[in-house]
Amino acid sequence: MSYSSEVIAQLKERYADQPEFIQAAQEVLVSLQPALDAHPEYQSQALLERLVEPERVIMFRVPWVDDKGQIQVNRGYRIEFNSAIGPYKGGLRLHPSVNLSILKFLGFEQIFKNSLTTLPMGGGKGGADFDPKGKSDREIMAFCQSFMTELYRYIGPNTDVPAGDIGTGAREIGYLFGQYKRLRNEWSGVLTGKGLSYGGSLARTEATGYGAVYFLTHMLAEKGEELAGKTICISGAGNVAIYAAQKAQQLGACVLTVSDSSGYVYDPDGIDVATLKNVKEVRRARLTDYVAARPRAMYHETQRPWGEKCDIAMPCATQNELSLESAQALVAHGCRYVVEGANMPTTLEATTYLQEHDVFFAPGKAANAGGVAVSGLEMSQNAEHLSWSFDEVDQRLQSIMASIYTSASTAAKDYGHEGNLVFGANIAGFLKVAEAMMAQGVC
Ligand code: NDP
Repeated sequence: MSYSSEVIAQLKERYADQPEFIQAAQEVLVSLQPALDAHPEYQSQALLERLVEPERVIMFRVPWVDDKGQIQVNRGYRIEFNSAIGPYKGGLRLHPSVNLSILKFLGFEQIFKNSLTTLPMGGGKGGADFDPKGKSDREIMAFCQSFMTELYRYIGPNTDVPAGDIGTGAREIGYLFGQYKRLRNEWSGVLTGKGLSYGGSLARTEATGYGAVYFLTHMLAEKGEELAGKTICISGAGNVAIYAAQKAQQLGACVLTVSDSSGYVYDPDGIDVATLKNVKEVRRARLTDYVAARPRAMYHETQRPWGEKCDIAMPCATQNELSLESAQALVAHGCRYVVEGANMPTTLEATTYLQEHDVFFAPGKAANAGGVAVSGLEMSQNAEHLSWSFDEVDQRLQSIMASIYTSASTAAKDYGHEGNLVFGANIAGFLKVAEAMMAQGVC
């Protein structure tokens, strides 16, 4: 049995109740085998066994009072997964589905993603099973203050720097930051995704979506193609989806769909990003309002967009939203590129099917790394007490995405899997972390 298979078997036994974590770990470990064969010292130093176990898992009670005066209790988490190459870094997810398995999968992915950005950031993730939907601003503030009242003990600008994720946007980061500052009596860059008036970075809001599209342009170039004139189906209608749609349309593509958890919108004229932003960012409303404002757009309740014909698919909503059946439909309609804007949106079976059917596939840990990369740039600006212009940050983002593409495609080639960006991204991200862990001894 290979070293990676041995560790996967141990994980399946130990964490049988954590399916998302097992899925993420399996996807990564299988692809590392060529690198492990080249470095037998990793097995003798039990490197994988250490890598798959978080350095620290923090779980805590989050009590808060709702607008009716009733006490609500949520469960909060922070997974400090790996700090070999820098302070723990990763978002906070606020969604009713949040549990240990989902946060461990996200924290594990984050280790490799952060390593790929070339910036010194370790891997972490956190959040709570709190649903921000339908809550008043006061309720959101009460929750965030209570959450930070426990979390502040474990984080800091050189220890652990959380950020946004599903359900955690600029409003939540603001409340979390205010409470941290109050408890510590200290202004520091402890969170990223901050507002521009208090240390946030220009282009952070746009970074994940823009970065995914920049990554896509390198994939297209590899095949001698360009983005202009291509059709794209995007899922999600949140931060990643909105800015992926905006950049893709700026570069001449036509984005046909966006979605939320209630259904998807097909707009034959191309998604109108200004209307979408107004519905989602300003009014926090549902996509039915988008359709009301765009007479030719159609709404498909409870469905996902993968049955539509497109050249490129960009899943930008959540994990496991693109199943084998969806992959089959995409291939049948001639889709040739799939770029993950979300984390692990494609199931393992669907990924294999796409790759076997000549679809050029980009894993989230490479394609969506632009968000954390600009978070890293926000940390640098905070540390230097400086702010860079939008263009300066965007230029750096473009060069980081180019470098991630080159490292993933080069590693894939060097380790015998040319064109397989899943293998390439995992191996390239892993090698840097592995080298740091080896240098730091058994810890
Ligand atoms: P947002 O909360 O801004 O948006 C999430 C979108 O996905 C919403 O449209 C939401 O719809 C939809 N969605 C959420 N859960 C489900 C579900 N179970 N089924 C269908 N649709 C769903 O989050 P982000 O855009 O920030 O994040 C999207 C993905 O990108 C996540 O996987 C996240 O981890 C990943 N990511 C985000 C980064 C960032 O910088 N924001 C960086 C890297 C990765 P609804 O409103 O109906 O819930």
